[in-house]
Amino acid sequence: MGPNRLPAWRVPVTADKTAIDRLIALLDASQRGVVFTGAGISTESGIPDFRSPGGIWAKYRPIDFQEFMASEGARRAYWRRKFATHEAVAGAEPNRGHLAVTELVRRGKVSAVITQNIDGLHQASGVPADRVIELHGNTTYAHCLNCGREYDLEPIREAFLAGETLPVCGACGGLVKTATVSFGQAMPEAEMGRAREESVACDLFLTIGSSLVVYPAAGFPALAKESGAVLVIVNREPTGLDDLADLVINAEIGPTLDAAVNGSK
Ligand SMILES: [Zn+2]
Repeated sequence: MGPNRLPAWRVPVTADKTAIDRLIALLDASQRGVVFTGAGISTESGIPDFRSPGGIWAKYRPIDFQEFMASEGARRAYWRRKFATHEAVAGAEPNRGHLAVTELVRRGKVSAVITQNIDGLHQASGVPADRVIELHGNTTYAHCLNCGREYDLEPIREAFLAGETLPVCGACGGLVKTATVSFGQAMPEAEMGRAREESVACDLFLTIGSSLVVYPAAGFPALAKESGAVLVIVNREPTGLDDLADLVINAEIGPTLDAAVNGSK
Protein backbone atom coordinates (compact mmCIF):
# COMPACT_ATOMS: atom_id res chain seq x y z
CA MET A 1 0.00 0.00 0.00
CA GLY A 2 1.52 3.31 -1.12
CA PRO A 3 1.65 6.40 1.06
CA ASN A 4 -1.40 8.04 -0.52
CA ARG A 5 -3.65 5.01 -0.50
CA LEU A 6 -6.65 4.81 1.75
CA PRO A 7 -6.91 1.61 3.78
CA ALA A 8 -9.60 -0.63 2.27
CA TRP A 9 -11.99 -0.04 5.17
CA ARG A 10 -12.00 3.68 4.46
CA VAL A 11 -13.21 3.34 0.87
CA PRO A 12 -16.93 4.08 0.88
CA VAL A 13 -19.19 1.86 -1.23
CA THR A 14 -20.86 4.86 -2.80
CA ALA A 15 -20.04 8.51 -2.78
CA ASP A 16 -22.15 10.89 -0.71
CA LYS A 17 -25.24 12.32 -2.34
CA THR A 18 -23.75 15.77 -2.88
CA ALA A 19 -20.93 14.32 -4.99
CA ILE A 20 -23.31 12.13 -6.99
CA ASP A 21 -25.62 15.11 -7.62
CA ARG A 22 -22.67 17.17 -8.80
CA LEU A 23 -21.61 14.39 -11.20
CA ILE A 24 -25.19 14.16 -12.52
CA ALA A 25 -25.24 17.93 -13.11
CA LEU A 26 -21.88 17.85 -14.91
CA LEU A 27 -23.04 14.97 -17.12
CA ASP A 28 -26.28 16.84 -17.91
CA ALA A 29 -24.38 19.99 -18.87
CA SER A 30 -21.90 18.14 -21.09
CA GLN A 31 -22.32 18.04 -24.86
CA ARG A 32 -19.29 15.87 -25.59
CA GLY A 33 -17.82 13.73 -22.86
CA VAL A 34 -14.86 11.38 -22.94
CA VAL A 35 -14.43 8.46 -20.56
CA PHE A 36 -10.93 7.26 -19.61
CA THR A 37 -10.67 3.96 -17.76
CA GLY A 38 -7.99 2.04 -15.89
CA ALA A 39 -7.69 -1.24 -14.01
CA GLY A 40 -10.02 -0.11 -11.20
CA ILE A 41 -13.14 -0.44 -13.34
CA SER A 42 -12.29 -4.07 -14.10
CA THR A 43 -11.26 -5.23 -10.63
CA GLU A 44 -14.99 -5.24 -9.85
CA SER A 45 -15.30 -7.86 -12.62
CA GLY A 46 -12.72 -10.01 -10.84
CA ILE A 47 -9.75 -9.03 -12.99
CA PRO A 48 -6.80 -8.35 -10.71
CA ASP A 49 -4.73 -5.24 -11.33
CA PHE A 50 -1.54 -6.70 -12.79
CA ARG A 51 0.49 -3.98 -11.11
CA SER A 52 -0.72 -4.86 -7.63
CA PRO A 53 1.78 -6.86 -5.56
CA GLY A 54 1.22 -10.51 -4.72
CA GLY A 55 -1.19 -11.22 -7.55
CA ILE A 56 -0.98 -14.10 -10.00
CA TRP A 57 0.85 -11.85 -12.45
CA ALA A 58 3.63 -11.40 -9.92
CA LYS A 59 4.52 -15.12 -10.14
CA TYR A 60 5.57 -14.75 -13.76
CA ARG A 61 8.06 -12.16 -14.83
CA PRO A 62 6.72 -10.05 -17.69
CA ILE A 63 8.53 -10.62 -20.97
CA ASP A 64 9.36 -7.36 -22.66
CA PHE A 65 9.04 -6.85 -26.37
CA GLN A 66 12.74 -7.10 -27.25
CA GLU A 67 13.05 -10.42 -25.43
CA PHE A 68 9.93 -11.72 -27.18
CA MET A 69 11.38 -10.85 -30.57
CA ALA A 70 14.83 -12.19 -29.74
CA SER A 71 14.31 -15.76 -28.54
CA GLU A 72 12.04 -18.78 -28.69
CA GLY A 73 12.64 -19.37 -24.99
CA ALA A 74 11.29 -15.92 -24.16
CA ARG A 75 8.28 -16.50 -26.44
CA ARG A 76 7.54 -19.76 -24.60
CA ALA A 77 7.80 -17.92 -21.26
CA TYR A 78 5.47 -15.25 -22.64
CA TRP A 79 2.75 -17.71 -23.67
CA ARG A 80 3.18 -19.75 -20.45
CA ARG A 81 2.46 -16.56 -18.48
CA LYS A 82 -0.41 -15.60 -20.76
CA PHE A 83 -2.22 -18.91 -20.38
CA ALA A 84 -1.54 -19.13 -16.63
CA THR A 85 -3.40 -15.83 -16.20
CA HIS A 86 -5.84 -16.35 -19.06
CA GLU A 87 -8.81 -17.63 -17.07
CA ALA A 88 -9.12 -14.47 -14.97
CA VAL A 89 -9.68 -12.43 -18.11
CA ALA A 90 -11.47 -14.98 -20.32
CA GLY A 91 -14.15 -15.62 -17.70
CA ALA A 92 -14.74 -11.98 -16.74
CA GLU A 93 -17.97 -10.16 -17.48
CA PRO A 94 -18.74 -6.45 -17.55
CA ASN A 95 -19.92 -4.99 -14.23
CA ARG A 96 -22.18 -2.04 -13.32
CA GLY A 97 -19.36 0.39 -14.01
CA HIS A 98 -18.93 -0.82 -17.59
CA LEU A 99 -22.70 -0.83 -18.12
CA ALA A 100 -23.01 2.77 -16.89
CA VAL A 101 -20.29 3.84 -19.35
CA THR A 102 -22.11 2.00 -22.14
CA GLU A 103 -25.31 3.82 -21.23
CA LEU A 104 -23.53 7.19 -21.49
CA VAL A 105 -22.29 6.26 -24.97
CA ARG A 106 -25.78 5.08 -25.95
CA ARG A 107 -27.29 8.40 -24.84
CA GLY A 108 -24.80 10.29 -27.00
CA LYS A 109 -23.15 11.83 -23.93
CA VAL A 110 -19.77 10.21 -24.51
CA SER A 111 -17.99 10.23 -27.87
CA ALA A 112 -15.12 7.91 -26.97
CA VAL A 113 -13.91 5.55 -24.29
CA ILE A 114 -10.13 5.68 -23.91
CA THR A 115 -8.88 2.69 -21.94
CA GLN A 116 -5.66 1.43 -20.42
CA ASN A 117 -7.33 -1.96 -19.98
CA ILE A 118 -6.69 -4.90 -22.27
CA ASP A 119 -9.69 -7.02 -21.27
CA GLY A 120 -12.17 -5.98 -23.98
CA LEU A 121 -14.93 -5.46 -21.39
CA HIS A 122 -16.12 -2.13 -22.82
CA GLN A 123 -16.87 -3.83 -26.14
CA ALA A 124 -18.37 -6.81 -24.27
CA SER A 125 -20.72 -4.41 -22.46
CA GLY A 126 -21.97 -2.95 -25.74
CA VAL A 127 -19.77 0.03 -26.57
CA PRO A 128 -19.23 -0.07 -30.36
CA ALA A 129 -15.63 -1.12 -31.05
CA ASP A 130 -14.97 2.06 -33.04
CA ARG A 131 -15.72 4.15 -29.94
CA VAL A 132 -13.16 2.31 -27.80
CA ILE A 133 -9.56 3.52 -27.95
CA GLU A 134 -7.29 0.82 -26.53
CA LEU A 135 -3.99 2.40 -25.52
CA HIS A 136 -2.42 -0.88 -24.39
CA GLY A 137 -4.07 -3.20 -26.91
CA ASN A 138 -6.26 -6.21 -26.24
CA THR A 139 -5.40 -9.56 -24.68
CA THR A 140 -8.53 -11.41 -25.80
CA TYR A 141 -7.09 -12.18 -29.24
CA ALA A 142 -3.70 -12.45 -30.94
CA HIS A 143 -2.25 -10.93 -34.07
CA CYS A 144 0.71 -11.29 -36.41
CA LEU A 145 3.43 -8.76 -35.62
CA ASN A 146 4.38 -8.67 -39.30
CA CYS A 147 1.15 -8.49 -41.32
CA GLY A 148 -1.43 -7.77 -38.61
CA ARG A 149 -3.66 -10.78 -39.29
CA GLU A 150 -5.80 -11.57 -36.25
CA TYR A 151 -6.06 -14.95 -34.54
CA ASP A 152 -8.40 -16.49 -31.97
CA LEU A 153 -6.64 -17.51 -28.78
CA GLU A 154 -8.30 -20.88 -28.25
CA PRO A 155 -6.46 -22.85 -30.98
CA ILE A 156 -3.20 -21.19 -29.93
CA ARG A 157 -3.86 -22.19 -26.32
CA GLU A 158 -4.63 -25.80 -27.22
CA ALA A 159 -1.48 -26.17 -29.32
CA PHE A 160 0.66 -24.49 -26.69
CA LEU A 161 -0.66 -26.54 -23.79
CA ALA A 162 -0.23 -29.75 -25.80
CA GLY A 163 3.45 -29.28 -26.60
CA GLU A 164 4.47 -25.64 -26.09
CA THR A 165 4.05 -25.13 -29.83
CA LEU A 166 4.60 -21.46 -30.67
CA PRO A 167 2.04 -19.80 -32.96
CA VAL A 168 3.25 -18.65 -36.39
CA CYS A 169 1.26 -16.60 -38.89
CA GLY A 170 -0.37 -18.80 -41.53
CA ALA A 171 -0.30 -15.95 -44.03
CA CYS A 172 3.27 -14.68 -43.78
CA GLY A 173 5.18 -16.81 -41.26
CA GLY A 174 5.55 -13.85 -38.86
CA LEU A 175 5.55 -14.04 -35.08
CA VAL A 176 2.13 -14.11 -33.42
CA LYS A 177 1.55 -12.40 -30.06
CA THR A 178 -1.47 -11.26 -28.08
CA ALA A 179 -2.71 -7.93 -29.42
CA THR A 180 -1.39 -6.09 -26.38
CA VAL A 181 1.28 -3.44 -26.06
CA SER A 182 4.13 -5.11 -24.17
CA PHE A 183 6.71 -3.42 -22.01
CA GLY A 184 9.30 -2.02 -24.39
CA GLN A 185 6.86 -1.91 -27.31
CA ALA A 186 5.94 1.46 -28.82
CA MET A 187 2.56 2.93 -27.92
CA PRO A 188 0.17 2.59 -30.88
CA GLU A 189 0.35 5.81 -32.88
CA ALA A 190 -3.17 5.83 -34.27
CA GLU A 191 -4.74 5.24 -30.86
CA MET A 192 -2.54 7.83 -29.18
CA GLY A 193 -3.49 10.35 -31.86
CA ARG A 194 -7.21 9.65 -31.53
CA ALA A 195 -7.01 9.84 -27.73
CA ARG A 196 -5.27 13.20 -28.03
CA GLU A 197 -7.93 14.54 -30.42
CA GLU A 198 -10.77 13.35 -28.20
CA SER A 199 -9.14 14.85 -25.11
CA VAL A 200 -8.78 18.23 -26.79
CA ALA A 201 -12.31 18.22 -28.25
CA CYS A 202 -14.31 17.11 -25.18
CA ASP A 203 -16.03 19.37 -22.66
CA LEU A 204 -16.08 16.73 -19.89
CA PHE A 205 -13.30 14.24 -19.19
CA LEU A 206 -14.32 11.49 -16.81
CA THR A 207 -11.50 9.28 -15.55
CA ILE A 208 -12.58 6.05 -13.89
CA GLY A 209 -10.47 3.54 -12.00
CA SER A 210 -7.07 4.80 -13.03
CA SER A 211 -4.45 5.84 -10.52
CA LEU A 212 -3.15 8.16 -13.30
CA VAL A 213 0.46 7.23 -12.78
CA VAL A 214 1.24 5.34 -16.01
CA TYR A 215 2.43 7.76 -18.67
CA PRO A 216 1.92 8.69 -21.45
CA ALA A 217 -1.70 7.58 -20.88
CA ALA A 218 -2.06 9.64 -17.73
CA GLY A 219 -1.28 12.77 -19.74
CA PHE A 220 -4.73 12.80 -21.36
CA PRO A 221 -6.71 14.10 -18.36
CA ALA A 222 -4.28 17.00 -18.02
CA LEU A 223 -4.50 17.70 -21.75
CA ALA A 224 -8.31 17.76 -21.58
CA LYS A 225 -8.23 20.10 -18.60
CA GLU A 226 -5.76 22.44 -20.35
CA SER A 227 -8.07 22.45 -23.36
CA GLY A 228 -10.98 23.67 -21.28
CA ALA A 229 -12.78 20.47 -20.27
CA VAL A 230 -14.24 19.80 -16.85
CA LEU A 231 -12.19 17.03 -15.22
CA VAL A 232 -13.87 14.41 -13.03
CA ILE A 233 -11.96 11.61 -11.27
CA VAL A 234 -13.73 8.54 -9.91
CA ASN A 235 -11.34 6.12 -8.21
CA ARG A 236 -11.15 4.10 -5.01
CA GLU A 237 -7.95 5.84 -3.96
CA PRO A 238 -6.61 9.36 -4.44
CA THR A 239 -4.74 9.89 -7.73
CA GLY A 240 -1.82 11.99 -8.87
CA LEU A 241 -4.12 14.50 -10.59
CA ASP A 242 -6.71 15.13 -7.88
CA ASP A 243 -5.51 18.74 -7.43
CA LEU A 244 -6.33 19.43 -11.09
CA ALA A 245 -9.84 17.97 -10.99
CA ASP A 246 -13.17 19.80 -10.70
CA LEU A 247 -14.70 16.82 -8.90
CA VAL A 248 -12.99 13.87 -7.19
CA ILE A 249 -15.02 10.91 -5.97
CA ASN A 250 -13.18 8.27 -3.94
CA ALA A 251 -15.61 5.36 -3.79
CA GLU A 252 -16.33 2.02 -5.41
CA ILE A 253 -16.80 2.51 -9.11
CA GLY A 254 -19.78 0.35 -10.09
CA PRO A 255 -22.22 1.61 -7.43
CA THR A 256 -21.08 5.23 -7.90
CA LEU A 257 -21.49 5.28 -11.68
CA ASP A 258 -24.73 3.34 -11.48
CA ALA A 259 -26.12 5.94 -9.08
CA ALA A 260 -24.99 8.84 -11.28
CA VAL A 261 -26.13 7.38 -14.59
CA ASN A 262 -29.15 5.27 -13.71
CA GLY A 263 -30.24 6.94 -10.49
CA SER A 264 -30.00 3.76 -8.42
CA LYS A 265 -28.97 3.98 -4.80
ZN1 LIG B 1 1.42 -12.43 -40.79
